[in-house]
Amino acid sequence: MTSLLGIAASNGIAIAKAYRLVEPDLSFEKKMIENPAAEIERFRQAMAKAKSELETIRDRAKVELGEDKAAIFEAHLLVLNDPELNSPIEDKIQSEKLNAESALKETADMFVAMFEQMDNEYMKERAADIRDVTKRVLSHLLGVQLPNPSMIAEEVVIVAEDLTPSDTAQLNRQFVKGFTTNIGGRTSHSAIMARSLEIPAVVGTKLATNEINNGDLVIVDGLKGEVHINPTQEVIEQYRKVAADYELQKAEWAKLVNEQTISADGQHVELAANIGTPNDLKGVTANGAEGVGLYRTEFLYMGRDQLPTEEEQFEAYKAVLEGMNGKPVVVRTLDIGGDKELPYLELPKEMNPFLGFRAIRLCLEEQNIFRTQLRALLRASNYGNLKIMFPMIATLDEFRSAKSILEDEKQKLLTEGQKVSEKIELGIMVEIPSTAVLADQFAKEVDFFSIGTNDLIQYTMAADRMNQRVSYLYQPYSPSILRLVKMVIDAAHAERKWVGMCGEMAGDETAIPILLGLGLDEFSMSATSILKARSLIRKLNKSEMEKLANEVINMQTTSQVIDAVNNVVSK
Ligand code: PEP
Ligand code: MG
Repeated sequence: MTSLLGIAASNGIAIAKAYRLVEPDLSFEKKMIENPAAEIERFRQAMAKAKSELETIRDRAKVELGEDKAAIFEAHLLVLNDPELNSPIEDKIQSEKLNAESALKETADMFVAMFEQMDNEYMKERAADIRDVTKRVLSHLLGVQLPNPSMIAEEVVIVAEDLTPSDTAQLNRQFVKGFTTNIGGRTSHSAIMARSLEIPAVVGTKLATNEINNGDLVIVDGLKGEVHINPTQEVIEQYRKVAADYELQKAEWAKLVNEQTISADGQHVELAANIGTPNDLKGVTANGAEGVGLYRTEFLYMGRDQLPTEEEQFEAYKAVLEGMNGKPVVVRTLDIGGDKELPYLELPKEMNPFLGFRAIRLCLEEQNIFRTQLRALLRASNYGNLKIMFPMIATLDEFRSAKSILEDEKQKLLTEGQKVSEKIELGIMVEIPSTAVLADQFAKEVDFFSIGTNDLIQYTMAADRMNQRVSYLYQPYSPSILRLVKMVIDAAHAERKWVGMCGEMAGDETAIPILLGLGLDEFSMSATSILKARSLIRKLNKSEMEKLANEVINMQTTSQVIDAVNNVVSK
């Protein structure tokens, strides 16, 4: 048995066969061939295999993932059947006596370059389709298998270098029992998605794709951050027991689903859920959340090939607001960039995407995108308790500009005779240190803050949240981070504003006692962490936690803080 150590990204135990979501080697040599007719036949056979594979994938995607996801494969089939692409390849094999791989690649590259230069979005997307189809045909010519995640039909553990948010969104919960990746940290989006899907995950193992073959039996221990490859029967039995104990523990927490979140000395705090799509509402209700503290709207924009319309967005926001039945819903405006890309929004590659043109920076410049979203939100505001927040605010000027665009759209809607709620609160994410430091000034103008510790910690520590080599610097209990959090909470309370936290720290067992002591009003986390957090807070005495918070703020290191928490809190 080989074991790997990584970062525990999503709780639970998975035991299943490995499914590698890894691109195989598609390299080949350019060669001259003797018999063009036989080579053309080989090419046609590869095309036929690719076609039947794509048809199966498309049909399955229709059932499992819906028509819109299946449309991608429909487009691939159109490319595959297009004689304008196929004939030049066969001509090339015939006239230049080239091997099929080279004829295919050279012809496809020419079309890709041609389409990419066009000024037409539709044609540019065709370039991407040609690239994908070429890869598929090439895999058949070379006799290697491309991974097809939508074809998974048995229980598996996914093994990958990394999973993009859209990969993760396409995983079928029924069959995907867990995943493990080479890169990523606790706050990378693959980890966040795994928690909301309740799939056990270990990320940042560095070696998963080197060590694990397709079909190996794998245990993903998302509680400890370990991965065991081809374990002995004894180890499997031990893990079955750990998994069963964990299920019992979850059943205990589940008893608190309709309870309030009140500390042992009677102080109420709000426990809210982070969501990515209206589908996540099931988990929100099942876990007894008192609101939605962060709706990451960017998932509406991902896994598709054009921007969502105002109407589509309106329907999604309305569904969430209605689904929450008057409970608060904090919707964050588009936070694209960093590790969240939109293939159809052609943005130049940046050296440091996390420090680049993302979130509110992009929205203030690409105002048509921003305005469409704001209109959809304002219209949806009539259906529930909406709060809007802007991501990645670094300066008061940015907040004021965003606010004035919102006001502008509101006036337009009112002039058109549409209704807009009068009670929408407007807040910001505090995830850039400049904003935390200037929180007293922001507090005069915003209705609330939500502290985004995933980014706040990455920017304060200057440590990329995707890079596991520096993941030791993800230190939510560092006195430096705790001081910033305290500054924000105190500044807000001085202006009688409320403060939430929607970064992963809000659901962290060691951080919760300190945050309670610092006076945080709302804790927003993966829905699956809520009951555990409620169970913990009900055992804590807020006045004791205030003392603890005052002490740890003045400590020197993270480990001192952890010891101090462990001394006063028995979890
Ligand atoms: C954060 O930065 O803490 C946050 C909640 O936003 P995201 O994880 O989506 O960047
Ligand atoms: Mg963030």
